[in-house]
Amino acid sequence: MTDLTSLTLAEDRDGLAKKSFTSLELTNAHLDAIQAARALNAFVMETPDQARAMAREADASITKGQGGPLAGIPLGIKDLFATRDVRTTACSKILANFVPTYESTITSQLWRDGAVMLGKLNNDEFAMGSSNETSCFGPVVNPWRRDGANTTLVPGGSSGGSASAVAALLCMGATATDTGGSIRQPAAFTATVGLKPTYGRCSRWGIAAFASSLDQAGPIARTVRDAAILMRSMAGHDPKDTTSADRDVPDYEAAIGKSVKGMRIGIPREYRLDGMPAEIEKLWSEGGAWLKSAGAELVEVSLPHTKYALPAYYIVAPAEASSNLARYDGVRYGLRVPGRSIGEMYENTRAEGFGDEVRRRVMIGTYVLSAGYYDAYYLRAQKVRTLIKRDFEDCFAKGVNALLTPATPSAAFGIGEKGGDPVEMYLNDIFTVTVNMAGLPGIAVPAGKDAQGLPLGLQLIGRPFDEETLFSLAEVLEQAAGRFTPTRWW
Ligand code: GLN
Repeated sequence: MTDLTSLTLAEDRDGLAKKSFTSLELTNAHLDAIQAARALNAFVMETPDQARAMAREADASITKGQGGPLAGIPLGIKDLFATRDVRTTACSKILANFVPTYESTITSQLWRDGAVMLGKLNNDEFAMGSSNETSCFGPVVNPWRRDGANTTLVPGGSSGGSASAVAALLCMGATATDTGGSIRQPAAFTATVGLKPTYGRCSRWGIAAFASSLDQAGPIARTVRDAAILMRSMAGHDPKDTTSADRDVPDYEAAIGKSVKGMRIGIPREYRLDGMPAEIEKLWSEGGAWLKSAGAELVEVSLPHTKYALPAYYIVAPAEASSNLARYDGVRYGLRVPGRSIGEMYENTRAEGFGDEVRRRVMIGTYVLSAGYYDAYYLRAQKVRTLIKRDFEDCFAKGVNALLTPATPSAAFGIGEKGGDPVEMYLNDIFTVTVNMAGLPGIAVPAGKDAQGLPLGLQLIGRPFDEETLFSLAEVLEQAAGRFTPTRWW
């Protein structure tokens, strides 16, 4: 029998329905793979007993012909999603012992549709980071290595565990979240597919909040089709999240293979950065050529406020984070470090519970929101945000269906390589934050490799709630580029 971990989610779904194998077999194959891949540090909690119980249940419902759309499919869950009775930490010491009594809306929808939980995946602490190095559980290792070298590379972040686990075939797909690029950047670094849906498409309920006006959950998957399958279960209106959109969930999979003929694809001039590696430049034009030969039309567009996106994001996101993280005070959740007074207890708890990057964000956020600085920083950043959104609206008004850009300014870098200057790390988000600032959907698709054999991704940005067009276009890129899997060394 073929190795059950090497199939796509779509193939597994069909194999399960035809009873070529059982979910228990599929689940066990993945549990074995997880055990053999502990060197990657992708999982922070393995739930094998629960996984097997869920798999047996899925097998029973498949036998009765009552399996849901994800019946028996083993998934990994980013540790930012609350899972009932299963420790959920956001990879922060402050939540090290937190066991939720409730389930996030997204994960409950996945279980409703029959999926199986393999465990919880590593991420940057409270999703703050681009390399998965800020996790209290330590860094995640990218299954990809440079040709002929054994330097350990980051998988990107903050959904580094999700990306690494999907790329290393430890789970069929994973949940992830994206506030400024945390689904798309790790997807690009690991040759996986990552979709950040339109703001409001997926419920945020039960996901540890980072920056609520930017946060959006989505899938990381092996293929574009797999991402579309997962999205159908993850999306939907949730009355418990007032920002969630009350719109029908389309059959995203039906968008795969749809013609892209006549679509207008914007190529934003401002994304051509000085000093951008030639390989990325080349990949970008190659991607354009693939879409063109599928019948799409390329148009050069301008997004004039792009250069302000990153600085504005690094005001808005920390501002919201400082407010969201105020709840971790040693009283309501997790860690408590005693002090002589309640004030001292707060201080001790937060000083010990939060890591450096989270503390930096809380301090920046508190500063930009404080009286006297609010207008100069926060209010201004919000105005810039409106202008960024308007840039995209102008493009769409001119008939542009989607935009094509690189996903990241470089391939994966080494663990510890960008430790010194936080701004150097923040620059990873240069092509992705605009999308969050504008609330738009964006997908990262593997598109090629650099000279050292590392994967590179392209990004497609869509109109609000038009994830379907992204899936159609992304599949064209995937067909042209092929699929990429790392050579196993772990
Ligand atoms: N890298 C960005 C940050 O550190 C984005 C993180 C995210 O999308 N969660 O804020």
